[in-house]
Amino acid sequence: MTKQTCPVCGAAAVTTAMDLLECGGCGLAFRAEKYFGTPAYSPGLADGIYVSAKAALFSGALDFLSTVVPDKGRLLDIGCAGGELLQAAAARGWSGEGVELDPQLAAKAVAGGLKVHRLPVEKAGLERSSFGAVTVFEVFCLMDKPAAAAAELFHLLKPGGFIYIRDFNAAFHLPLYRMEELGLFAFLGASPSVIHNFNFRAKTLKVLLERAGFRDIRIRNSRPTAGDPYRTGGRLGGFLPGALKVLYYWLAQALRGLTLGRVFAGSALIVTARK
Ligand SMILES: [Zn+2]
Repeated sequence: MTKQTCPVCGAAAVTTAMDLLECGGCGLAFRAEKYFGTPAYSPGLADGIYVSAKAALFSGALDFLSTVVPDKGRLLDIGCAGGELLQAAAARGWSGEGVELDPQLAAKAVAGGLKVHRLPVEKAGLERSSFGAVTVFEVFCLMDKPAAAAAELFHLLKPGGFIYIRDFNAAFHLPLYRMEELGLFAFLGASPSVIHNFNFRAKTLKVLLERAGFRDIRIRNSRPTAGDPYRTGGRLGGFLPGALKVLYYWLAQALRGLTLGRVFAGSALIVTARK
């Protein structure tokens, strides 16, 4: 059995299944050996993921941020891809810039007139206490050092500034991953679980932000992306996975209600917090 210290809370983490270590303190599940590579989406898939599937999620984030940071100002999008969220933010009066490590995506954002930093945020040397808002869509799961990045984002925000995070929920994806390993989805050619270097539960994200200094931490189940942009449904095609995702979202919401906000079972979580 491999033993390692949890990079989020420092508690002991042990191997539980497959190639993952799980923390007994905050519930983080992480790979013993990190995988670093840009996600290899097949041609055309990236546009489906970033443009159509996420437009409603970006719009929801900007609705929220406009309410809690009415003065707006600078917005930093971590993992800004081709700049889709930043363009939507600019249309609402934010002055946006991004961090993007993938050279092709960064070039696309720059071609759209955006300012893009190409280093991990904790190494980018950005001006502290200068941003009104930071958005982080499915990026903490891919980072080298999520705790260092969270601490840096806290410093970059102005006092009263907000962070808005969407990430995959390990409480949903780990059981699916185990079922996949057992071959339960093989007959459909489907691979519905999403497993990265770091896999967060609601509690893990709360601990991550608390340790970075954030307050007013709020967690909720995220609505799913529209359709099946990652094409995980195999023979089920696009429509059925999309409909199942929406049905599951409402089941997760019902469970959250029944447990008085203690259990978050959604496939993805949204977390907001204030500096
Ligand atoms: Zn931990």
